[in-house]
Amino acid sequence: PDVTLPDLLFADVAARAARPALIDGPSGRTLTYGELAAAVDRLAAALAERGVGKGDVIGILSPNTPYYAVVFHGALLAGATVTTINALYTPEEVASQLTDSGARMLFTISAFLDRARPAAETAGVSDVVVLDGAEGHTNLSELLATPASTPEVALDPAVDIAVLPYSSGTTGRAKGVMLTHRNLVANLLQGQPFLQLDGENRVLAVLPFFHIYGMQVTMNHALLNGATVITMPRFDLAEFLRVIAEYRTDRVYIAPPVAVALAKHPLVDNYDLSALRLLLSGAAPLDADLAAAVRSRLGCRVRQGYGMTELSPVSHAIPADRDDLSVGTVGLLLPNQAAKLVDPASGEEVGPGVPGELWVRGPNVMAGYLNNPEATAATIDSDGYLHTGDVAVVDEQGCFSVVDRVKELIKYKGYQVPPAELEALLLTHSGIADAAVIGVRDAEGEEVPKAFVVRQPGAEDLGAEGVMAFVAEHVAPYKKVRAVEFIDAIPKSASGKILRKDLRDRETATPA
Ligand code: ATP
Ligand code: MG
Repeated sequence: PDVTLPDLLFADVAARAARPALIDGPSGRTLTYGELAAAVDRLAAALAERGVGKGDVIGILSPNTPYYAVVFHGALLAGATVTTINALYTPEEVASQLTDSGARMLFTISAFLDRARPAAETAGVSDVVVLDGAEGHTNLSELLATPASTPEVALDPAVDIAVLPYSSGTTGRAKGVMLTHRNLVANLLQGQPFLQLDGENRVLAVLPFFHIYGMQVTMNHALLNGATVITMPRFDLAEFLRVIAEYRTDRVYIAPPVAVALAKHPLVDNYDLSALRLLLSGAAPLDADLAAAVRSRLGCRVRQGYGMTELSPVSHAIPADRDDLSVGTVGLLLPNQAAKLVDPASGEEVGPGVPGELWVRGPNVMAGYLNNPEATAATIDSDGYLHTGDVAVVDEQGCFSVVDRVKELIKYKGYQVPPAELEALLLTHSGIADAAVIGVRDAEGEEVPKAFVVRQPGAEDLGAEGVMAFVAEHVAPYKKVRAVEFIDAIPKSASGKILRKDLRDRETATPA
């Protein structure tokens, strides 16, 4: 349908006005759908009064709270574009996103002012609004108290940019991704038959709203269906488990590091997690054995989906009711899209069972990268296919499996070794808490897999030989891990991805 995102979400909110829309996990403070819609209206009016409208960019630097949704949708209703900023960013990184996106206003929380203030100053953003109240600053509550009427803004959902999230920066510098109202609306509707959510569901929002997965799949999809969103400002395992138990949340959207904790951490047994019905993992590969371990420990379904910021974000998922599809796959193509797998060398489409780069076309494909027409042209081809940069395989049932990123494949003597496969295998070892694999040069200049391993507490006698022997037992000889280093923690991004580039930098900084 030809509607904006706030129109889609708030059109018939009156029917559910009294139901809880968002609950702050730590404090229990609740916003009903009626309160949310009223606050969104008032903020849009206050923004319009300040001259904010179509084409203006508003930055949000905040952890997940119910008021994140108020600012996000209030700004959209005023016709503005929202740029969501990684809550872990340094002042320099915040300033660079504010400048690149051309933001004219920044919403943040008082605890972030020591980073937000210098960043806003560097970027020349003088209007800083504090969500939770702080002396000497405009507070959100003041804007919400302004009596004014909702602005009438004429937007073209197919053209006007609703959000400007930045990609995770896993492979390089994060890119501003221009998503129109239509992109976001389309992807929410494409997800409907797969996610199967209704007003009875209580969804845990532990993944950050600034990342497209938390923003769209957790927050907006839940609001579309009248479900209740429980917000958590950051991930902490004990608090995560407490919130699930206290609010009896039945659905949790996670990234694989959370699945690792759920499968392996002793704390999990101390909480009543019986309300959980479905865990959905995305953003990075989830191994089938790990998923099975979580399922049998918690007694709930585990599903996987695949997406990227540029796809608004989901292109593939295992439908909630399909127990027959392997959770080690990312499932089926969501409706209203076309996908093909293409051999990167020949440019030819490959058939079932043969790996190729995944190309996707559909109404959820971004408008382009901000200020970067070259990158846009290199990513979306003239037929409208977005080249994902990921290698995948499809089976006869139409079920896709992601192998790894094209650029991460390790080329060993003409063979291609996907580091993600070795990482998944390493995690099945009882003495290994976490692992990452990159390609390094050996003495002959050959690229070989090297594993970085975090030992499980109590597994101090696990050595490099033991790790290499374990891998060698399970994989073809060309995939063997040929170097091992033990470290304290695997570097990961806020969206749960292994930062292999940080491990590569570390290699070049300290050659073995
Ligand atoms: P950047 O593009 O800035 O380097 P990024 O690609 O990590 O960062 P996102 O848009 O957050 O930024 O992530 C999309 C990527 O995440 C996909 O291209 C894919 O590599 C990976 N991904 C997402 N879901 C899955 C999954 N289920 N299995 C494997 N990989 C996944
Ligand atoms: Mg990417």
